[in-house]
Amino acid sequence: MKVTLPDGTPLELEDGATGADAAAAIGPGLARAALAVKQAGEVRDLARPLLDGEPLEVITAKSGRDALDLIRHDAAHVLATAVTELYPGVKVSIGPPIDAGFYYDFEFPEGVTVTEADFPAIEQRMREHLKAAEAFEREDVTVAEALERFRAEGQDYKVELIEDLVRDQGVETVSLYRNGPFTDLCRGPHAPATDRVGALKLQSVAGAYWRGDASRTMLTRIYGTAFFTKKELEAELERLEQARARDHRRLGRELGLFTFSELSPGSAFWLPKGTTLFNTLVALSREMGAERGFTEVKTPLLYESELWKTSGHWGKYRENMFVTETEGREFGVKPMNCPGHAHLYRQQRWSYRDLPVRYAEPGLLHRNELSGTLHGLLRVRHFIQDDAHIFCTEEQVQEEVQRCLEYSFATFDLFGFEMQLELSTRPEQRIGSDEMWDRAEAKLEQALKDQGLDYVLNPGDGAFYGPKIDLHTTDSLGRSWQLGTVQLDYSMPERFDLSYIGADNAEHRPVMIHTARMGSFERFIGILTEHYAGDFPVWLAPVQALVLPISDRHAGAAEGAAAQLRRRGLRVDVDARTESIGRRIREAELQKVPYMLVIGDREAQEGTVAVRRRHEGDEGTLTLEAFAERLEHETATRAGS
Ligand SMILES: [Zn+2]
Ligand SMILES: [Zn+2]
Repeated sequence: MKVTLPDGTPLELEDGATGADAAAAIGPGLARAALAVKQAGEVRDLARPLLDGEPLEVITAKSGRDALDLIRHDAAHVLATAVTELYPGVKVSIGPPIDAGFYYDFEFPEGVTVTEADFPAIEQRMREHLKAAEAFEREDVTVAEALERFRAEGQDYKVELIEDLVRDQGVETVSLYRNGPFTDLCRGPHAPATDRVGALKLQSVAGAYWRGDASRTMLTRIYGTAFFTKKELEAELERLEQARARDHRRLGRELGLFTFSELSPGSAFWLPKGTTLFNTLVALSREMGAERGFTEVKTPLLYESELWKTSGHWGKYRENMFVTETEGREFGVKPMNCPGHAHLYRQQRWSYRDLPVRYAEPGLLHRNELSGTLHGLLRVRHFIQDDAHIFCTEEQVQEEVQRCLEYSFATFDLFGFEMQLELSTRPEQRIGSDEMWDRAEAKLEQALKDQGLDYVLNPGDGAFYGPKIDLHTTDSLGRSWQLGTVQLDYSMPERFDLSYIGADNAEHRPVMIHTARMGSFERFIGILTEHYAGDFPVWLAPVQALVLPISDRHAGAAEGAAAQLRRRGLRVDVDARTESIGRRIREAELQKVPYMLVIGDREAQEGTVAVRRRHEGDEGTLTLEAFAERLEHETATRAGS
C-alpha cells in the first residue's frame, strides 16, 4: 500500500500496515512520539490498518488541537476508570473531550454524592493509572456481545446507547476500548496508552440531564482538564485563576459598580460608582467627538413600523427587536441609531457645502438577545453605544474614513490597547453594482495605505450594504475583542432617499458612514474592568481619592478638604467611620481607590493632607492645593493606561 506524507513524500508500506508501522518506517523518534494518525480528515488509532492511497499525518504532542483532544478523551476514560473503582455500582454514560478539557457523566448509587472535596482521591487514583501506562485496546464486537456484557454489568446507559445505534444506524458491531480494568463503549480514537496524559486536574462538578433531556435522570458531570506537561497545565490553571479574579461580574459586585436582576435580564443596574465610570466614558466620547466635528443629536426610542420597513429592519432584524403596539399602530424599539439619523437627515435640505454632516448619539438601544446568550455586561439587551453617522459626498469618503481611524486610535491609546485592523470586502449577498464596490473598497484601502497602517484582508466579510474596517484588540489576558468599526453604507441613503444639492445644482446621493469606537459602553466597561482587573487609572476611577480623618475630631477638616476638591470637579469621598485608620486604608486598597488622604492633628491645623498612593504607599504630606493640582493634572491628561 502507499500513502503520502504532508510534505508530499510517498511512503510504501506492506499491505495491512498500521499507523504505528508507518511512524516506525519514517523513523524511531517519530515511532516513540506518535499518538495516532490522521487520514481522510479522521484521527485514527495507531494500531488500526491504514487507508490505502490516503494522505497520512502522524499526530504527536505537537499536533495542537487534535493531539489535545486525543489525550483529553484518554483522560475522560481514566476518570471513569478511577470512579468505577472508587464507587462500586456507579453507572457510566459518556465522556468526551471539550474545548477546555473533558468531562464524564455518571449516575452515582443512591445516597452517594460526589463533590469537589472528593477530587483529590479521584485524581490520586487517576494518576496511578497514568503511571501504569495501561494500553488502550480496541475491540470490535457484535451488538449482541456488547449488549450482553453491559447488561450483565448493569450499565443501562451503555445498553441504551447501543440500542439506539442499532435502531438509528443499523450497526451490527460496535467498538469497545479497554484500558486496565475499565472497558467503555467508544468510537475512539485513543493514544496508545494512558501515560501519554502528562498532567491532569479535575475542576468542577455539575448536574447534567442524560441526553440533555429534562425528563430523564439528572447525572453528575465531572469536569477536568489535561495536558502533555505539568508546565502547560500550570500555565492554564494560572490563566483561569487570573480570569476568575478579573471576571467583571465579580468585580462589578465587589467594587459596587453594577448589578443584574432576573426582573430585567440583560440590563445592568448601575450603582453610583458604576454610573460615574459610565458617565466618564460618555463624557470622553462627547469631548473627543466635538473636537472632531461631530454634533450630538437625540432621536426617539420608538418608531412606527413604517420606519423599520424603510430601513429594512422589519424584514431582516425584527426577531431581535422589541415590538409594541398602541392605538392600533405597531412600533419597534430601536436596536440601532442609524435609521433615526437617516430620517433626521431627511428633514432638511442640504447643499454640498454643508457636508459632511456628522451626527453622534449616545442613545439607548435594545436588542432582543436570547436569554441563554446573555453574559454580564459583555452581552446585554439594553445598552448605549458611542456610535455616530456621517453623511458625506463620494469625494469626502476617504478623508472621513481616515478621520474615523484617527479618532479610534486616539481613543484606544488612552487605554493602552493596541489595535489590529481588518478590511472586510464584498460578500456574496450584497446590494449595489460591482463598480460601486470597486470604488468603495479602493477608498477604504487607500485610507489605510495613506496612513501606513497594517491590516488583514477579510474577503467576503463586509456588510451587505458596503465594505468596512474593523478594529480588534487583545486584552491583558490575551483575549481578542472587536472594538471600533468604520462601515461604508450605500444602501440606507438609497432606502431613505437621502440627497444633497451638488455644485452642479443637481441632486446627489450622500454616502453614509457608520462608525463606533468603544461600541456599547456596557460591553466596553466589562472589557475595561477585566483589562484593568478593576484597578482603573486615576482619570477613570469612580472615586479618585478617599479622605480619611484619623479620629472624630478631624472629621470636619476631612469634609472641608473633600468639599474643596469636589468643587474642582474631582471625585472624592470621605470615610469617617470609627474603624481604625489601618483598617480603613486596607479597605480603600481593596476598593482600588487610587489616592488616600489622611488627616490628623497636624494636617488639620496646616491645611495639608498625608498622601498615600495605591500600590506605592506613603508619598509624604502636601498642601491641599498642591494635591488638587496634581490630581487635576492627572485627570486632565488622562495619565496612565
Ligand atoms: Zn470514549
Ligand atoms: Zn449605524
